[in-house]
Amino acid sequence: MTTETVLRADALLTPAGTIAPAELAFDVTGRISYAGPPRAASTVTHDLAGHALMPGLVNGHTHSAMTLQRGASDDESFMQWLATVQGIEQRLTHDDLIVGLELALVEMIETGTVAFADMYYWDETLIERVRAAGMRVFAALACNGNDNVAFPSVSSMTGAEVLTEVERLAEKYREDPLVRVGFGPHAPYTCTPEFLREVRERALAGDIPIHTHISESAAEVAQIREQYGKTPGDHLASLDFFDADVHAAHCVHITGDEIATFAATGTSVSHNPVSNLKLGNGIAPFPEMIAAGLPLAIGTDSVASNNSLDLFEELKHATILHRGARQDAAAVLGPQTIDIATRGGAAAIGFPDSGALAVGRFADVVAVDLTVTAAAPVPIESLVAHLGYGATGRDVRHVFIGGRHVYADGAHQTLDADAVRARAREARARLVG
Ligand SMILES: [Zn+2]
Repeated sequence: MTTETVLRADALLTPAGTIAPAELAFDVTGRISYAGPPRAASTVTHDLAGHALMPGLVNGHTHSAMTLQRGASDDESFMQWLATVQGIEQRLTHDDLIVGLELALVEMIETGTVAFADMYYWDETLIERVRAAGMRVFAALACNGNDNVAFPSVSSMTGAEVLTEVERLAEKYREDPLVRVGFGPHAPYTCTPEFLREVRERALAGDIPIHTHISESAAEVAQIREQYGKTPGDHLASLDFFDADVHAAHCVHITGDEIATFAATGTSVSHNPVSNLKLGNGIAPFPEMIAAGLPLAIGTDSVASNNSLDLFEELKHATILHRGARQDAAAVLGPQTIDIATRGGAAAIGFPDSGALAVGRFADVVAVDLTVTAAAPVPIESLVAHLGYGATGRDVRHVFIGGRHVYADGAHQTLDADAVRARAREARARLVG
């Protein structure tokens, strides 16, 4: 008798390299009990011949419910784009948020993502939808200041009230392996120093993480310099903001000094190359962040600035973008970005037990189809290169999260994907017209 679930596949990507052929087993707690060559005595639960097993991908920064705004403002500048999406947000209902979130969950799961860091409107109903889908979320409640109401058609909570709600939800889900709740002060250019100081104090007092945007565009850096005479990172450092557990999105326009501050304080960064390119915001100093040893993740940002949640696309961009910009094929290497999009990202957003196919970690596993044309005739020794440059989210056939089979041979097990897409179309027609 065995209590293990056993997967057999053509290959397995471990932190130490590729094993082929391979077996992965996990126990009833959802943790990996074996990762290595096939064992003669095993009873195979899932024969995944023709597939490679890799750790689930981690999205370091998104606003998932914004899937309803996919393609709503595709060719606008950053500040125009922000005005368009915030205009739509004035009309969002709570049902819209549920549909938008579920559409994102469908897309993330079917493209191999197991965990994501989000900043938006969050409450128990929405968090429970993520738990029901079986995904892991670092949910940061977006807020702009003490008096501003962020989502007026959904909630009358002021920024000050959001902070209290974060404290309540963080306590409620503190022991939940799928959920982390945090503060989401939007950015230094939308939050006053007093508000940021208060967030910092309450984050430290309650041991609650912070997810914020830093230096996404040149315009906001200029604005902060004019207001405070400092770069955004230096401005935040002057508030001792980085004493708290801070996860920063973008950091496109940061200096070497700011990178050193992040390294010294353990501040993590989500690199979001496609969003930065699409909005014309620039290219982040990702190679310098890697060299400085920052805790890093790779993120899509919302689909309103991407337009997809497919992290395979994102990790390919995160590798090749910097090579082209610097005319240096060694600027970022494929295995580095795969590591950041899995193990690194999981640690950066607070799920250190995810991110790697190794004994003791959660079985957050993705099976990628190796029988597709784009995988032929790639030899198994080149599996990492294939996953980094050739594979796409459409090659994902199975997803397990904490051992739960949430996507099986291309079929969702926890979400009614057709119904979600239909409801999303209805909501979109009403919201954008
Ligand atoms: Zn963002």
